[in-house]
Amino acid sequence: MARAGLAALAVLLATPAASESAWADTLVDNVAGQTIGADGHIERFKAMVFDDAGVVKALIHEGEKTPKKGFQYRIDGKGRIMLPGLIDAHVHVMGTGFAALTLDLSETKSLGEALAKIADYAKAHPDRPWLIGGGWNQERWKLGRFPTATELDSVVSDRPVWLDRADGHAGWANSAALKAGAVTAASQAPAGGEIIHLADGSPAGVLVDNARPLVETHVPPPTPRDYDTAFALAQQNFYRRGLTAVADMGATLEDWQTFRRAGDANTLYVRIMVYGAGIDNTIRIGGPGPTPWLYADRLRLNGIKLLLDGALGSRGAWLKAPYHDRPDTRGLPNFTQTQLSNLMSRAAMDQYQIAVHAIGDEANAVLLGAMEDLAQTYKGDRRWRIEHAQVIDPADWPIAERVAKSVGLIASMQPVHQTSDRLMAEARLGPNRLAGAYAWASAKAHGAVLAFGSDTPVELPDPWTGFAAAISREDENGQPPQGWQPQERVSRETTLAGYTSGAAYAGFAEKRFGRLAPGLRADFIFVDTDPMVAAPEAIRKTKVLETWVGGGKVWDAEKPEGGAGAAVPVKK
Ligand SMILES: [Zn+2]
Repeated sequence: MARAGLAALAVLLATPAASESAWADTLVDNVAGQTIGADGHIERFKAMVFDDAGVVKALIHEGEKTPKKGFQYRIDGKGRIMLPGLIDAHVHVMGTGFAALTLDLSETKSLGEALAKIADYAKAHPDRPWLIGGGWNQERWKLGRFPTATELDSVVSDRPVWLDRADGHAGWANSAALKAGAVTAASQAPAGGEIIHLADGSPAGVLVDNARPLVETHVPPPTPRDYDTAFALAQQNFYRRGLTAVADMGATLEDWQTFRRAGDANTLYVRIMVYGAGIDNTIRIGGPGPTPWLYADRLRLNGIKLLLDGALGSRGAWLKAPYHDRPDTRGLPNFTQTQLSNLMSRAAMDQYQIAVHAIGDEANAVLLGAMEDLAQTYKGDRRWRIEHAQVIDPADWPIAERVAKSVGLIASMQPVHQTSDRLMAEARLGPNRLAGAYAWASAKAHGAVLAFGSDTPVELPDPWTGFAAAISREDENGQPPQGWQPQERVSRETTLAGYTSGAAYAGFAEKRFGRLAPGLRADFIFVDTDPMVAAPEAIRKTKVLETWVGGGKVWDAEKPEGGAGAAVPVKK
């Protein structure tokens, strides 16, 4: 980054006070800039000016004159590709941070490899009373069944081990952990949960959905210092991939307090739109309603996150018809439609934005029905969000359309789930329910605003993998050729909007950030690949060269260790 030095400062000091230019404006020039414009289409620019407060003053387009003076600093873009900072519309911030602190099995390809990694981790951490972690997926291991406590005992038997499945909807315990949770052959699973059993009736080691707390509640809680360490790791995970804002789906008061500590210490680099986990957490954080934007638009409690059903992988998603590969179940709903409506009503009354996790087609139908009912009472610009909206019965699109028209509907979807889940989804749903699965183009066509994300730590918070999936519906090996259900692909422009302006709109932030335009925050990135023209496999490998939030550099690929340290806004 080149900046005019003392000479420019001297010139500036000599400028009369009545000068139109603020004294610390910054010019970014020599860039191949692209943003979603005010009309929703791609707008290209060659330079940008932002002010001392990190707010954009002007974009300079091809054919327009780049100002020669009137700014104190100049950043030479060196002809690089400049984009607005990307936004991940569905993350679990502290989950991502703690995943970085704990045992991560997400890259393991077999049970054997996972067990070896667990054994190593146990050896490396003899002091930890419990070994915790997650990321395992028996589908990826091609195991054909859940792993067992006995298998875990074979590598760690001296203390409890508790490992989350990649989707967070199941946990794997060793015998010591089952013992700590008093889970025995006689234990009953709570409603909405399941204890996987062996043939002899004893617990096998995996607890699904609402049965998870039987063991999880016995894990010693992390300290505030653990939270701060994990949060710093989560932020690194975001900004080094080009994310300058995220929506946190399901925060607790402890999470919120961690974000506030970072804000107070000036180490809150990534903007966070927060949704409290359920009514109690939301009210504990926000009291009578959403908070104001804090720390120069870096933090706000927007609303509430509710969890209507589970996930497809663990067969917790709530389906209209039985699972194709397990005909005795339709999934595990957490609420009836009446219970859901009551919770949504309570939140809407206090002006909280509502975000509901709905994966199965029955869950989506019930949610849309509740939204349509409540829209009679709670009018105006509500932007109710469906998180995942993974399987929608095409017969329900007209309801979505009516909700979109009356109060505004957000489809908060994760393109990378489609490529990761494809074979599993086909097994769970069978051949006749795939038309409405991961149906991004249909959601948009029926009036929902697309907000794209990753659901990290379920997936890496990598917007480039998601971008490639969104435009191709092919995985990293190009499978299946021509894309899976290719009619649901979306354009590059729609994809960029899903990761920028749409994701900001989904969090009531479109007048603050999400695009590069006068009056919005100067959140931008330099990258080595142009997502508007590159092939999907090249987009996947995009290197983020620099990340800037509010006019301050938070990441520089050439000085990675100094990244966050440079985050104080450019001024004085
Ligand atoms: Zn989630």
